[in-house]
Amino acid sequence: MTNTQLFTNAKVFTGASESAFASAFRVADGVVDWVGDAAEVADESSIDLGGRTVVPGLIDSHTHPALMAGTAAAVECFPPAVMSVDDLVTVLTGHAPHVVAPDAWILGRGFDDTKFPDGRMPTAKDLDLVSTERPVLVWRCDAHSAVCNSKALEIAGITAETPDPEGARFERDENGQPNGVLTEIAAVAAVTAFIPAPTRDEQIDAVVVLGEEFASRGIVAVCDLLSTRLSDPLEVFRAAVERGLRTSVALYPGWNPAHPLAELTDGDKAGQVRIAGVKVILDGAYSNRTAWVHEPYPQSCDHGLRVVEDEDALAAGEWARRNGVQLAVHAMGDRALDRVVDLFGDMQPWLDGIPSVRIEHATIVTDDYVHRLNEARMHFGIATHTVFFFAEYDGYEKALRAEQVPDAYPIARLYDGVEALSLSSDRPATAWSGADDVMLSIEAAVRRRTYNGIDFGPEAAITVAQAMLLYTARARLVSPLENVGMLQPGFDGSFAVLERDVFTVPTDEIASVRVAETWIRGEQAFVR
Ligand SMILES: [Zn+2]
Repeated sequence: MTNTQLFTNAKVFTGASESAFASAFRVADGVVDWVGDAAEVADESSIDLGGRTVVPGLIDSHTHPALMAGTAAAVECFPPAVMSVDDLVTVLTGHAPHVVAPDAWILGRGFDDTKFPDGRMPTAKDLDLVSTERPVLVWRCDAHSAVCNSKALEIAGITAETPDPEGARFERDENGQPNGVLTEIAAVAAVTAFIPAPTRDEQIDAVVVLGEEFASRGIVAVCDLLSTRLSDPLEVFRAAVERGLRTSVALYPGWNPAHPLAELTDGDKAGQVRIAGVKVILDGAYSNRTAWVHEPYPQSCDHGLRVVEDEDALAAGEWARRNGVQLAVHAMGDRALDRVVDLFGDMQPWLDGIPSVRIEHATIVTDDYVHRLNEARMHFGIATHTVFFFAEYDGYEKALRAEQVPDAYPIARLYDGVEALSLSSDRPATAWSGADDVMLSIEAAVRRRTYNGIDFGPEAAITVAQAMLLYTARARLVSPLENVGMLQPGFDGSFAVLERDVFTVPTDEIASVRVAETWIRGEQAFVR
């Protein structure tokens, strides 16, 4: 027997266009089979949504659930709670008594030194105040860098004689001694390799909890852009489904030339949790001036970091083509962005319907660059962010020249110029607690204002409906997650009911609009 639910008396944003609204819809066995006007149907058993606004289940197309689940033991050190080195030491010291297992590390994540009064990076000396007995490590908000205490350096065997890993640095004091600051992923990995991994059971439970958090934000589908820190992400996420995870998950494991990925089976590429691609990191991040740029950073001759060589990026692309999945390239700096098109622009796309090559972040996008993307033979998509300039303005202020601001995260230009486009959170690599609150990103897209009230290229503003499409119907064009992002016959009966009408609230109240209920494939997954 078919299980049919009729939802009426709502303002339903269907995702079909910026202005497509309905007032009712029906879900049969978890799938939408009708959308329209409540006056057309009469059913006593219908679910009255009380006139509230409904949006298709939201898609966060660049986030890091595997990293979050794998580091669930880390205490949150994000702004606005941590705004100084002292705050950081206080939070970690408060967390230390909870770390009881004999070999456990005291871990934190999310600090943003650019928001500290003197912009000072914490060092091992600061973290030694938390503990000298136990290793301590805190990931910086960009998740590309970290700082650890002396005990952690000792355990990792990093001394004055240890050479820097390729594309990364162990920062050092004036005597050449490592000072605990680990810049870029290879340096961080040299230390985090010694952190005992959570058990498989703990990993699975952490994924289930994350799925509940996603549902509380109206998020029903995510792309995991690195799938790191879990023993076997595909297996762990699928085990989490058995324990109740409802989120659809597309995994993008990282490309490591030293440990090539196994070839995929058809089964790996289908289902609620699937491998959707491979990720390559081409450069660093603007927020700590390591994005790879054409013109040097202000007051320097530094062009940032280029993290992989062409041949490795091409090898990752070859693997993606051979396995029929996407290549996702982290590229922030204008030079890295150009490199992506240099390397892949003339190639024949290998996927139908969705971009063969996704560009992650894409900080500086000029009109010329949009033109280059559209002229290319390759089909490119972009996952970008407005929460970045909102939350990390202090870093961008130092890294961007004034004339670059209009080209930084120019959402209006991207909205018009790049069809496969999404807004996303990059949580937990964004310097804000709860960065995956979709309404925060939407408010930033609409107001173009930073957390501290500074206008950031207001001419790039878009409307709420446009921003909502970048979390729904347009976001679904960026990855192979099917049947999400629209309330249309044939799509999943996955949607969020909002407490207030995000389309009409004053723009400075968008971020305070909360999700009241989330339904996934016809089942209520969250109610506030
Ligand atoms: Zn990321």
